[in-house]
Amino acid sequence: AAGAAGTATAEAAPGPPGPASARHDHRIQRLLARMTVEEKLGQLQQLPWAWNTGPGGGATKDVEDAARAGRLGSVLSIYGAKTTNALQRIAVEESRLGIPLLFGLDVIHGFWTTFPIPLAQAASFDPDVAKADGEVSAREARSHGVHWTFSPMMDVTHEPRWGRIAEGNGEDPFLTAAFAAAKVRGYQGEPDDDGRAAYGAKDRVAACAKHFVAYGGAEGGRDYNTVDVSESRLRNLYLPPFKAALEAGAATVMASFNTINGVPAHGNTHTLTDILKKEWGFDGVVVSDWAGVQELIPHGFAEDGADAARLSLNAGVDMEMTSTHLVVHGKRLLREGRISERRLDDAVSRVLRLKADLGLFEDPYVDEGAALDGPTPAARRAARSTAARSMVLLKNEGRALPLKRSVKSLAVVGPFGDSEDLLGTWSFPGAAKKYPSVKVLDAIRRAVPGAKVTYARGVDPEGEETTGIPKAVAAARAADVTVVVVGEPPAMSGEAAARSDIGLPGGQERLVAAVAAAGKPFVVVLVNGRPLTMGDWLGSAPAVLEAWHPGLEAGNAIADVLFGEVVPGGKLPVSFPRTVGQIPVHYNHESTGRPYDAGNKYTSKYLDLPPGPRFAFGHGLSYTTFEIGEPSLSREQISANALREGDTLEVSVSVTNTGDRAGDEVVQLYVHDIAASITQPVRKLRGFRRVTLEPGRSRTVRFRIGADDLGFWTNAQDGEFRVEEGAVDLYVGASSETGAKRRLTIT
Ligand code: BGC
Repeated sequence: AAGAAGTATAEAAPGPPGPASARHDHRIQRLLARMTVEEKLGQLQQLPWAWNTGPGGGATKDVEDAARAGRLGSVLSIYGAKTTNALQRIAVEESRLGIPLLFGLDVIHGFWTTFPIPLAQAASFDPDVAKADGEVSAREARSHGVHWTFSPMMDVTHEPRWGRIAEGNGEDPFLTAAFAAAKVRGYQGEPDDDGRAAYGAKDRVAACAKHFVAYGGAEGGRDYNTVDVSESRLRNLYLPPFKAALEAGAATVMASFNTINGVPAHGNTHTLTDILKKEWGFDGVVVSDWAGVQELIPHGFAEDGADAARLSLNAGVDMEMTSTHLVVHGKRLLREGRISERRLDDAVSRVLRLKADLGLFEDPYVDEGAALDGPTPAARRAARSTAARSMVLLKNEGRALPLKRSVKSLAVVGPFGDSEDLLGTWSFPGAAKKYPSVKVLDAIRRAVPGAKVTYARGVDPEGEETTGIPKAVAAARAADVTVVVVGEPPAMSGEAAARSDIGLPGGQERLVAAVAAAGKPFVVVLVNGRPLTMGDWLGSAPAVLEAWHPGLEAGNAIADVLFGEVVPGGKLPVSFPRTVGQIPVHYNHESTGRPYDAGNKYTSKYLDLPPGPRFAFGHGLSYTTFEIGEPSLSREQISANALREGDTLEVSVSVTNTGDRAGDEVVQLYVHDIAASITQPVRKLRGFRRVTLEPGRSRTVRFRIGADDLGFWTNAQDGEFRVEEGAVDLYVGASSETGAKRRLTIT
């Protein structure tokens, strides 16, 4: 391995035998005792690699100088075996203590092998796909010297206008928690019997649970915006995925850009220290978000840089990303008693422990000869099947889908039909250049080699240019069937990409309407990073397949589903509103005191809209049909005390494929506490299982539920979880709007 021989790594000699954590503690104590204040502060600094600089630009040299001076703990936005090794060599061989650097990168849904966006993955209702993404990403990224990914993002949101909805898992905390935990396991592996983190292995990376917390509550869906949230909502809606990610072993947590009840997350002692570190006992690293420490100033919370450093360190931030207030002001703050040595040592120990867990003191380098230079065939297969599993069949009238392979002529229409830019937000820039998406047009041509396949772009998704519509209509008229591929360019979702109008952008709605008017069979494929509102075109489209931004294997996966190679089985992880004016509209809302029938004018609804979303959470069709039976409970009464002591009950239900081909159904369990000391959502997802069934076959699905599922957090600041007596309704069905009901009594 490059540089592995004879390096002067600090404290390279292992500590005494014993559990891994004790060996680490010994090493960390010895190291801390030798460190100057400057060196300690240096460990808390993370700088970006060559950011915003030209060739040979200043930033690279600044980073190298800081590493040499022992004034740097970590570097972000860096990768490449040679690049990371060279910089590491400076830290290890030229700095006084030789403490290795930690290299971080946003590997969000793939490094070389781009999987579908996280929102899409959630639609699979199969957390194993997130695990697979994590494993492939970790292997590829670590081989390029990346130790740490800023993922998974687990911000629950009820805001489809918010661009970052693409990065998370939608509107539900239970679903998000399952995906967050699975992704962490994929990146990090399972800890060994000694509790030693598995991410010391050379094919693993440390994960980062982000953004802590309630970032998805941004007012109006405008990124970075204010969040005002009750303690109960914080704990019931936003915190559970973080808890799950930490239970799965997530090594680090990133603070969020928003304020929480007037206190910015980066200066929020209640969330970072009281809840995260004390109540949950998190002993890993809290990293700031990009300049999040600095931003305490424009937030109107810190007077100046020194104040920002003090407030964030004291609140619980351990590492400062990109801004440099701690290294610049830390020594003075310490002298003046505005930060304590104890807190400083605590933060430094957390960083050093992460480095130790990653095995960096033993071997800080990567093998330059072993760097993976692209997706392996197995990784591509995983990306393809994940993309297909993530697709949601929203509508399919008259069985317009699947398309027949015997088709003689087929038109592909729309700006995304011939696009290789379907990786989605936060794809790895290197991958976008070397491994862009497989185009839908190319994949369809391969799928039906005997057919005449034409293409017409029609319109521009980012402008009002519609002069291509007549050509598209002509193509549709001339073909047996048309596949219209429309949606959002990836840059319209992700960070700082909020939209006030979430319809199909540009002239695309007009394009679909024009194709419909041509009067020939057609289907619509959507590629987008958020829920879309759908205008009148929806009524005229026989079939609509939600494909999201599917990643590297986009075209192949779409063709797999269009031609029935894969039967769609995904479900919406987020509600699709009818109009923007209806937002927020989500399944897990509370009931008003006037929940009367839809026709009643006192119902909580708009005069000009029916109640409820266009497509509900959990909705998704198949090429076959399923019947979910009446659920049965292993007991109809259970005592609150027994539940609190860990007792559980079983809900079982049979599901049958009543159609004529094999397919997948996602059986969903929801609970509703009908009267509680804090009003409860009308439904809360508490179980889901995706099952594959041959035609005519049945299967019994069983869910185990207990206190976690039947209780809720109150508004107590120090956290009170209650399981109350009374009736709870359980629903088991194929979406948040369906399902048979059974009543459970908690005595
Ligand atoms: C984002 C984070 C990301 C960081 C580093 C920030 O702007 O909010 O999610 O990890 O940049 O790239």
